[in-house]
Parts: sequence; structure tokens; C-alpha cells
Amino acid sequence: MTYYKANYHTHSLYCDGKSTLEEHVREAEKQGLQQLGFSSHSPVPFENSFAILEEKVPDYVHEIDELQQKTSIKLLKSLECDFVPGMTKDFDEWRTTYQLDYIIGGVHLVRPPHGDGLWFIDGSKQETYDNGLLDLFDNNVKTAVTTFWEQTFEMLETQHLDIIAHFDKIKMHNRDRFFTENEQWYKILADKAIQLIKRYDVIIEVNTRGLYKKRCEHFYPSTELLMKARKADIPVLVSSDAHKAEELTLFVPEALAELERCGFDHTAYFDVEKGRFVY
Ligand SMILES: [Zn+2]
Ligand SMILES: [Zn+2]
Repeated sequence: MTYYKANYHTHSLYCDGKSTLEEHVREAEKQGLQQLGFSSHSPVPFENSFAILEEKVPDYVHEIDELQQKTSIKLLKSLECDFVPGMTKDFDEWRTTYQLDYIIGGVHLVRPPHGDGLWFIDGSKQETYDNGLLDLFDNNVKTAVTTFWEQTFEMLETQHLDIIAHFDKIKMHNRDRFFTENEQWYKILADKAIQLIKRYDVIIEVNTRGLYKKRCEHFYPSTELLMKARKADIPVLVSSDAHKAEELTLFVPEALAELERCGFDHTAYFDVEKGRFVY
């Protein structure tokens, strides 16, 4: 397995992370990483506790530039952009305004087709997921999960992203309670997402966070989806989605072994000269 030692998905005190940018850099040096990408949650137009504030983005970008002077690791600038139809800014606006190296796109908040409110599928509390399912979707799990996937399709079709974040995170708080990933309707939706990822040249990350946070027994995405991604010749890389410096490389060897089992022989990496990912 040819693996470029890098982590492109990290959070800091600028958003909901618990470490400073500098603490991440020091840890990356200790771990021998060649590249480190910062990806704060993009600002969103409503009250929340997880995203970077829009007025803080210039400081964030500036601090990364400053840190670059003090380390031999290549630092990269990014945002993990949330896509909520009709609410969030075009990803390319962030990219061009702040000259970001790449964009990670993801769905954490699902907007019901009718009515107000957002279903928060991430976070530490299973009850938030369960309450949203009840309040916003009348416990109709098929409608709710379909809405998640359709929002993912729309993101892929309308936004310019380099990496898709934790592709099947919708399974995290489900824990096989409301649906299983073997159900035909679910497979059809996930398969369509894979087709779109292929069509728009997006990289799938193998995200290890569910495992070390013990919120999920598998990587995002699941083995079966990774095998389908391999068949479709979709590029992959490994992310720990670290919110603390000490999480920077957790479960990376396991993720590489998983990729190997699924038939991959290399991971994508950021080519500094070209200014984009190559695979
Ligand atoms: Zn995320
Ligand atoms: Zn993240």
C-alpha cells in the first residue's frame, strides 16, 4: 500500500475542536506526517456550537500561514463545508475568498422537504438523532434517510468539493435500530451516491472517528461501499477527523489494512506543485 503520511481532516479551537492549530502541528511533527490539512466546519447562517464564525476565518487562514513559517510539514488550508439546500453558501465562495487549497463537503444537518428545522445526525448524543427523527420526520426512517441521501446527491451535483466527508455517517446513531444497511432501498441510495462521486471526481475519505470515539463499529464508509468504490475506481484517502491533536493518526493503520482488503493499493495526496489532489 503506497500511503502518503498526511491528515487532511482536522478541527481546532476555531470550530468544535479542542486543540490549537499549533498543537496539531507539533503532534504531526511527532508522528512524522508530511502534510497536515486544517478543515474547520464552515460558517453556517444560524446559531450553533460547532462552526467557525465567519469573522474568524481571516484569522484562521492567517494563523496557518504564520505556522507554515515554523514547520517543515506542508500545511494546507481547507474548510469542511456543510451543505444545506437553500441555506449554505456556495463552496466555491469559501474556496476563492480565502484561497483554500481544497474543500471537504459533508452533510451533518438534514433539511426536511416540508416544514422547518434541521435534523442533526452527528454529535455525541443518540437522543438528538432520535428526537429529530420523531419531531421532523414522524419517525418515518425511510423518508428521513432518503432525505439525507438526496441532500448528498444535491451537494455532489451543485457544489465543487474535493473530498466527501464521512460518506455514510447517517448510520452512526442508527446502530441497526431503525434500518439496516442491507435493505434494498438503502443500498440503491448509497449506490447512487457512489455513481455521483465517480462522475464528479470526488475523493472518498476513510474516516476513522466513529471507531475511536466508539460511536460506530465500522469506518465511514462501510466495507461494502468501499468495495464498490474500488470497483468504480474512485480515489480514497484516510482521515482521522481529529478534534484533538492526540487523535491525529488514530486507527490509520487499521484503515489502511481495510483499504488493502478492499483492493486499493494507494491513497490520494495533495500535489503542492499542481495545487490539487492527485491519485
Ligand atoms: Zn464532519
Ligand atoms: Zn470533520
